[in-house]
Amino acid sequence: MTIDDAPRDALRGGPRELLRWVATGAAVSRADLSRLSGLSPSTVSQRVEALISQGLLEEAGAGRSRGGRRPRQLAVPTGGAVVGAIDLGAHHARVGALDLSGRVVQARTLPVRIEDGPEAVLGALLAEVATLVGSDPAAGGGAVAGGSAPGALRGVGIGIPGPVQHSTGRIVSPSRMPGWNGFDVAAFCAGRVDVPVIVDNDANLMALGAHRTAHPELDHAVYIKAGTGIGSGVISSGRLHRGAQGSAGDISHCRVVADPAPPCTCGNAGCLEAVASGAALVTALREQGVPVSDLTGVIRLIDDGDRQATALARQAGRAVGEILAVVVNFFNPQVVAIGGRLADCEPLLASMRATLYERCLPLATQTLLIERVAAGQDVGITGAAHLVIDHVVAAA
Ligand SMILES: [Zn+2]
Repeated sequence: MTIDDAPRDALRGGPRELLRWVATGAAVSRADLSRLSGLSPSTVSQRVEALISQGLLEEAGAGRSRGGRRPRQLAVPTGGAVVGAIDLGAHHARVGALDLSGRVVQARTLPVRIEDGPEAVLGALLAEVATLVGSDPAAGGGAVAGGSAPGALRGVGIGIPGPVQHSTGRIVSPSRMPGWNGFDVAAFCAGRVDVPVIVDNDANLMALGAHRTAHPELDHAVYIKAGTGIGSGVISSGRLHRGAQGSAGDISHCRVVADPAPPCTCGNAGCLEAVASGAALVTALREQGVPVSDLTGVIRLIDDGDRQATALARQAGRAVGEILAVVVNFFNPQVVAIGGRLADCEPLLASMRATLYERCLPLATQTLLIERVAAGQDVGITGAAHLVIDHVVAAA
């Protein structure tokens, strides 16, 4: 369950980095890896052999000769659905089977009733992972059998829309998940699948998926997930930063300026989540007498230019911007990206951006990229797959 948390410099030429160079096409041979890592050819060869024996790399025919014997070309095995991923949301879950490069082989979205409780919900989603992996002709058939044989399932990554204690995989005081508090997701899943199960919160998975997809070259990044709830994931020195317990980046209960300060599920008032989340917008509109039942309805009103909904979206954007300004001043990231369903909400984004520029030090915003998460609906399962792949490589 624990993931190697060595700083990035210590990983120069580590198995994970070798694999990534091959996966991204930066290297196609042992010689390329030696040049990129600065490691001796014999050390690179040793590490490559270890990765090949674990089925994490393969030799794909002969490459171009520069005189002498033609070098064998390296590749990450693609096509096999060998990583299971679940991105659980408030009303839906995205479930996928991915290959060792983090590419989605099969995926589908399922409706979810969180209030049915963890056993029912997770049991059904794990069964779906088994179906997706088993239906891939390149895979070994079924999620219960694992190991390093070609085509066998390597692990399952799961994202939860609430705080997760990373060392144990246990859910701690989630806002909108009745019956899930204290539930040990990792232990429950370990009893059902025969491979490592890695659990994290959904914002961390989005951060990892977006970072690996869009900006793997940037070392410092903050990703805001704004949907029914609101949270963030932090990439520091190229790695997901979880903090001591796994709660790093959880901005949902930071206090913002709001008058009146709406009550929050945590017992306090004026939390970011109570002002700027999708759930908060639904509540606020209903209190103003607007008959809206969910976030989809809110977004439709904003798209139609509804005055009340747009004003609330602007207020939410300012609140997110205020908290984000503190984060940016403190952490000095290269990129801040917003994802989740509210990321498409233009008035929210515009006021978030304006507040950020207004409240940040010029040095912090001079070269700061502020953008939308571009990776689409599979960003969470992509992050989940990378959690598993990193774990498998570290274990190898
Ligand atoms: Zn709160």
